[in-house]
Amino acid sequence: MQNIAPLNWRRFPERYLLRGSYCENCKQAFFPPRAICPNCRRKGKLVSMEMPRTGKIISYTKVYSPPEGFRNEAPYYLAIIELENGARILSQIVDSEPEKIKIGAKVRKVFRRIGEPDKYGTITYGYKFKVIE
Ligand code: ZN
Repeated sequence: MQNIAPLNWRRFPERYLLRGSYCENCKQAFFPPRAICPNCRRKGKLVSMEMPRTGKIISYTKVYSPPEGFRNEAPYYLAIIELENGARILSQIVDSEPEKIKIGAKVRKVFRRIGEPDKYGTITYGYKFKVIE
């Protein structure tokens, strides 16, 4: 547990606040945060930025055979979401009626448990998204 918790906490701002990067040179937002702007490389000027909480689904899939740690949740929906600032993020869609999960649907960030507790009993929390009317 001692080895696990610090890692989770180190990633906490990214998972909880949805903190990404914004390049002041090309005005693009990125998530997860980048060390180097993929557009500008050395000329890029990245700053830390909290991502918007809402966006829309641009692609999604239903997962029937999830990886270890997510078996209890199957089947579930995984979507690529374009946030209000244009950054794209891969996330699970929860608390939404299946017929409302479609391309173009508006979604909002929620805070949920991620997967099942690991062998040390550590529970990880993070962002997921739900469809809003
Ligand atoms: Zn840039």
